[in-house]
Amino acid sequence: MAQISDDCFAFGGPMRPIDETAALIASKLSAVQEVEAVSLVLADGRFLARKMVAPLPLPPFTNSAVDGYAVRGADLPQTVKTAFAVAGRVQAGMAPDEPVLPGQTMRIFTGAPMPKGADTVFMQEDVSVDGSGRVILPPGLKTGANVRAMGEDVALGEGVLPAGHRLRPQDVALAAALGFIELQVKRRIRVAVFSTGDEIVAPGDLRGPAQLFDSNRFMLTAMLARLCCDVTDLGILMDDSRLIAEKLREAASSHDLILTSGGVSTGEADCVKAAVESAGTLVFWRVAIKPGRPVAMGVIDGIPLIGLPGNPVASFVTFAHIARPAILALVGARQQPPIPIAVRAGFSYSKKQGRREYVRANVHATADGSYEATKFPREGAGLLSSLVATDGLVELGEEIVHVEPGHTVNFLAYSSLL
Ligand code: AMP
Ligand code: MG
Repeated sequence: MAQISDDCFAFGGPMRPIDETAALIASKLSAVQEVEAVSLVLADGRFLARKMVAPLPLPPFTNSAVDGYAVRGADLPQTVKTAFAVAGRVQAGMAPDEPVLPGQTMRIFTGAPMPKGADTVFMQEDVSVDGSGRVILPPGLKTGANVRAMGEDVALGEGVLPAGHRLRPQDVALAAALGFIELQVKRRIRVAVFSTGDEIVAPGDLRGPAQLFDSNRFMLTAMLARLCCDVTDLGILMDDSRLIAEKLREAASSHDLILTSGGVSTGEADCVKAAVESAGTLVFWRVAIKPGRPVAMGVIDGIPLIGLPGNPVASFVTFAHIARPAILALVGARQQPPIPIAVRAGFSYSKKQGRREYVRANVHATADGSYEATKFPREGAGLLSSLVATDGLVELGEEIVHVEPGHTVNFLAYSSLL
């Protein structure tokens, strides 16, 4: 396990900007080194341990892009149509032995290797066949048309994916096309997760009149699973800092990251702060985002701890902007900030300068074809229904103080945050 120093997150300022926070985390955490081989069918979402280099070109041989007739470019009719004899036939999967000679064509199908001499293919829709079986070729086709050259997609020896890349279905397809049967990926990051709060009970347990079912643990576990983490579910801990401290030390011995929710604001029962202080070192950050604000960063026996706020929406947003960059750093991945999409605001909104705010919103097409974001009508950080009913977050930068309908704003789809 990669160890970090106790004081690595030290920070004296009152409010930490979110970009700076994510960058600091990424710079302080070092990546796990262990690598494992996974078969292609299990590779989606994993992080490449080494650069992928093409052991063969793609396509591996020059072939026809269409069903038609292969010819020599030098023979092509320039101004008048021409009739050529058909010298043979080559189908996908066949290696043609016979060359195409001057003044000949060869029947060819999509994906079939180009016969020797031929460098151009007429689409079958563009030609006709006369009574004696000759093909009538129209004038004007460029030499090289409808041919896929060996290596035009990927050159032999080309670096196609960098180390640390998070594999997507199309990357797995590329690996398969290059003949790999398994890939070297970083081992999964081990994350211990628990919820805190005397008022929190597990779904399925008896719920007292003043208690809530735990939702954060399931949300965070699902978000971690999307990042291919190995999650240890440590359940719910009562607001007892001694007990929490004990669990933190235990978790630190066998995990790469500890993730908690609740107990990090300034209330008396906010025991996670006290527990981190006794089990390790605490840095309490007021991160300049809404929803979110209080986030605890700690180091327990060399292992990072991120204490997310208890309110579900705040927990979601801080996971996306703080825990996710931490996990990417631990696995040695490139940081992948979500790509914002510019949309038109369909709402007005005022905010404090110097703070980044995330507004839950739906996006829909308008009559003029542009996209407009409509704000969820209520703003509470405890409203789980607001996350469920919306498509993503409108990101309002630190400098913005007011948004009017029609302003251009940045929208982050939930899928880009996970
Ligand atoms: P806290 O950050 O502990 O002060 O909690 C803030 C709010 O979030 C309180 O209303 C809690 O009841 C609620 N909360 C805390 N943890 C959870 C959880 N695991 N699931 C759902 N709500 C929670
Ligand atoms: Mg609490």
